[in-house]
Amino acid sequence: MYAEIISGKDLAQKLRTNMKLEVSELAKKGLTPHLTVVLVGEDPASKSYVKGKKKASAEVGISSEVIELPKETTEDELVQVVNTLNEDQKVHGILVQLPLPDHIDEQVIIETINPRKDVDGFHPVNIGRMMIGEDTFLPCTPYGIITMLKSTNIELEGKHAVIIGRSNIVGKPVGQLLLNEHVTVTHCHSRTVNLKSYTKMADILIVAVGKPHVIHADAVKEDAIVIDVGVNRLEDGSLTGDVDFEDVGKKAAYITPVPKGVGPMTITMLLKNTIKAAKGLE
Ligand code: NAP
Repeated sequence: MYAEIISGKDLAQKLRTNMKLEVSELAKKGLTPHLTVVLVGEDPASKSYVKGKKKASAEVGISSEVIELPKETTEDELVQVVNTLNEDQKVHGILVQLPLPDHIDEQVIIETINPRKDVDGFHPVNIGRMMIGEDTFLPCTPYGIITMLKSTNIELEGKHAVIIGRSNIVGKPVGQLLLNEHVTVTHCHSRTVNLKSYTKMADILIVAVGKPHVIHADAVKEDAIVIDVGVNRLEDGSLTGDVDFEDVGKKAAYITPVPKGVGPMTITMLLKNTIKAAKGLE
């Protein structure tokens, strides 16, 4: 192993310690940030993510509640729940856990959330604000990735980032955030022809595909910074990333592990957004 490991777990811990202090200062002024998570159905992965969010909130002193709804909940009923939370003064942040059951249009629900309470940063208003570089709620995973990159103290300006993946929650927004940092950005996806010819040019390689070990050392430039966003569960129940960690770790300068990489940072940025929501967007 040659690469330095960027530990999302350690960085998250450091940030959460500071957040705990900030939240206790806010509490002295009578303000306790409050996050409400809405969970529809019984998906085990979603349940476990929600549990993690509740636990992390409690650790820093953010109050949180989970509204659990049956999988038969209709789109109209969910819209009503979100509207009630929009009106509730004590709720600062609203997160509707995705994915939703097939009969509910996720975009309808995302757009029902008041943008000022949209701590996931998925509302088109917040995405638009991010695009034009305004202060807003940034989507948590891309926000976590940028924070990890900045933690290396490596100058980002002028670097070339290649991002594999163009989802609305990871690939596209992380590209925009890097662009805002004066990085040159290339997006790749499933229709990209000769993927390796792009990845080998990357100073920063971000892999958000969702398939185990699609990237090996032969696709990586010497001394690259490699961020592995993928979370894949293997048959034995263990988690692995989209990047062959051992192989790529011999060639890259920095690499993120899975687990304990981007995952803990995603939750940390959710906490940060909830504190921001409680303080009120400018
Ligand atoms: P997604 O919506 O399924 O997007 C996957 C992207 O990968 C798509 O843009 C797809 O291209 C592209 N792709 C698929 N196969 C490819 C291939 N062989 N070569 C090149 N590109 C390919 O997934 P997502 O929501 O962005 O998530 C990606 C991964 O990150 C998943 O493993 C997810 O679990 C993980 N994730 C982790 C966190 C965290 O906090 N750690 C948060 C979010 C997501 P097309 O657009 O052409 O289909």
